[in-house]
Amino acid sequence: MIPDKLNLAQLPTPLQFLPRLSAELAGPRIWVKRDDLTGCAASGNKVRKLEFVLARAIAEGADTLLTCGGLQSNHCRATAVLGAQLGLKVHLILRGEPPEQPPDGNLLLDSLVGAEISCYPQNQYQHLPELIAHWLDFYRSRGRKPFVIPTGASDGIGIWGYLHSVSELACQFRELEIKPDAIVCATGSGGTQAGLTLGCHLSQLDISVVGFAVCDDAAYFHNKIREDISDWTRRYGTSVDMTQVAIQVNDRYIGPGYGRATAEVFSTIRHMASLEGLILDPVYTGKAFYGLIQEIKAGAFQGASDIVFIHTGGLFGLYAQRDELGIQLKSSASGLIE
Ligand SMILES: *Cc1c(COP(=O)(O)O)cnc(C)c1O
Repeated sequence: MIPDKLNLAQLPTPLQFLPRLSAELAGPRIWVKRDDLTGCAASGNKVRKLEFVLARAIAEGADTLLTCGGLQSNHCRATAVLGAQLGLKVHLILRGEPPEQPPDGNLLLDSLVGAEISCYPQNQYQHLPELIAHWLDFYRSRGRKPFVIPTGASDGIGIWGYLHSVSELACQFRELEIKPDAIVCATGSGGTQAGLTLGCHLSQLDISVVGFAVCDDAAYFHNKIREDISDWTRRYGTSVDMTQVAIQVNDRYIGPGYGRATAEVFSTIRHMASLEGLILDPVYTGKAFYGLIQEIKAGAFQGASDIVFIHTGGLFGLYAQRDELGIQLKSSASGLIE
């Protein structure tokens, strides 16, 4: 059974070959699935998930969307923009201290599109279920119909987005006459990887899906991805033999923590931007791409002919870290800044 879906994303997104990087690595050919081009103010991978989640919210008669994430959450910003586009009120529950300076990056856009924003420091945000319950009561007692979207829109509904994207990919693989060995993505709340993994399993494409964790460890994501898939089976009355579903998480490139990147990651961002005109971000795609390059150099994908990297977006996160990026650009010998 296929659920309701809104048409919000610009699809199909291009699948592009990276000729110079592939030559430089002298290993498998590297392709990028440009899901940074799904549209909706650069909403990246989130719009694929929200096409299904927001269809559900509207079907339930919701007039208010409640969701949560970090201060610079791409998911929260995508929800805020799409809420405005659909005429729904959006309330964001954000983790972190409200900034003293004018808002930047995603947070700037959240306020621009008129989202209600509540910031909670970590010691309060850790009681997220209570915070959500509080705001649910708040809206219900005022006669509104709130709908809660979990972190990253990653649940049994949201994973339809990337489940669906697998047929789009399969079609492009046929057109390009390639048979990739691996699909690689950044993993933050697990929904993208869960959808891709389930999609490849169900369509019996013999491709491994590898997620590069950007925050929590492999054990956490194995569990989370399983949960999202079982939520999907429960909601839609399907069954999946989980023993046949290979969940592969690489958690060796998280670095200092969520949202914090090492100089190597910034250097990769800079390299990819100048080598291929491909703009990555320091929170998700830059970290995962750095990990992918390291793993290829270490021989982890030996024998692979083609690898597809899912560019999940995140552009505004780059602006929010302009200072860190500036240091990297200055210290490099490119001659651009000096
Ligand atoms: C949210 C996000 C991810 C992670 O996707 P999940 O489905 O949450 O694991 C990756 N890249 C970008 C740019 C994101 O905004």
